Amino acid sequence: MGGLFADTPAVGEQLGQVAEVLRGAERISVVAHIKPDADAVGSACGLAAGLRKLGKDARVYIGQTYPHPGNLRTVPGVDDITYGSHLPADGLIVTVDCASVDRTGLLREQIDAERDRVVVIDHHETNPGFGAHNLIADAESTTTIIRELFTHLGVELDSEIAYCLYAGLVTDTGSFRWGTPRMHTLAAELMEYGLDTRQLTMDLIDKASPRDLQIMGGVLADLQNFRQEGLVVSVFTIPAEALARMSQTTVETIIDYARVLEGSDVGMVLKQNGPKHWAVSLRSTVIDVSKLAQALGGGGHIPAAGYTAYGSQDMVVRDLIAALPTREERAASQHEPAAQNFPNANR
Ligand code: AMP
Ligand code: MN
Ligand code: MN
Repeated sequence: MGGLFADTPAVGEQLGQVAEVLRGAERISVVAHIKPDADAVGSACGLAAGLRKLGKDARVYIGQTYPHPGNLRTVPGVDDITYGSHLPADGLIVTVDCASVDRTGLLREQIDAERDRVVVIDHHETNPGFGAHNLIADAESTTTIIRELFTHLGVELDSEIAYCLYAGLVTDTGSFRWGTPRMHTLAAELMEYGLDTRQLTMDLIDKASPRDLQIMGGVLADLQNFRQEGLVVSVFTIPAEALARMSQTTVETIIDYARVLEGSDVGMVLKQNGPKHWAVSLRSTVIDVSKLAQALGGGGHIPAAGYTAYGSQDMVVRDLIAALPTREERAASQHEPAAQNFPNANR
């Protein structure tokens, strides 16, 4: 292989620098984002496993008090993740798949205070580069970047690492629906390690219980549509009781409906975390939702982004609608060059 980032020399340079920094460390604390998905956990567990092969003391941390969602239970290393608010006092801190420092949750305070030993590895365009060293590349998944980093570090893959890296790749490409040809090159390489990809995607993405389907039916039936500035915004709301009883994969399925709904320009999913506390997911192929989410305190990718909101459901929807770009703003931004490879990129 000519390398997964052969077309982007700047990324090659960052890869070399970060590999150098990692090689020089003994203890490495790898941090995945809170409410982890398969790319977060796959990147973190895969990177830690690879670093351990180099003799490093590498462990994975997530800054929340509750464990990972059930669909991630098959990812090798996931049971060794440490949850909470504390990182070791020495060594490097490497964040993976964290678009911004607040995605590190309870670990944020420590990371903020110790930026000089923080390395950021991520594929989100909105990442400000909050580390002392930053490896931020336009890629299908953070695991794609980790794969290339292993080439620079001289880490040999094995079946467990391949599982971790594939988990992030298949999830963040929407099961290979969006991405560059590189995603298939990498998938082919990883499959050579004997992955049962049918079972893997069943476990990570597809499985739903009868209860999941019943709750989902209710959420889908309550679809709301709003019109503003020539845009149709479609809103699915997942109340707290439903969210608590639903699997993570079913929540992702609802968000996916928001992405593909015919006649809709912007899909919005409100996940209720508390009486007036919402995690909002945005999807669009018409406007740049990363800008919209950023304006509302979050971030993400051009077609898929999110933020946290406080207030009643009505208020949160109203605030989103008020923040939509006007017709004039949309016309003006159409003259900007398209800066992205993954028109339907997700997570
Ligand atoms: P989701 O809708 O949760 O699948 O997230 C879609 C994208 O938005 C991902 O790239 C996330 O990293 C990003 N995102 C979601 N929530 C937030 C947030 N509160 N702050 C920053 N980025 C977010
Ligand atoms: Mn993620
Ligand atoms: Mn990701």
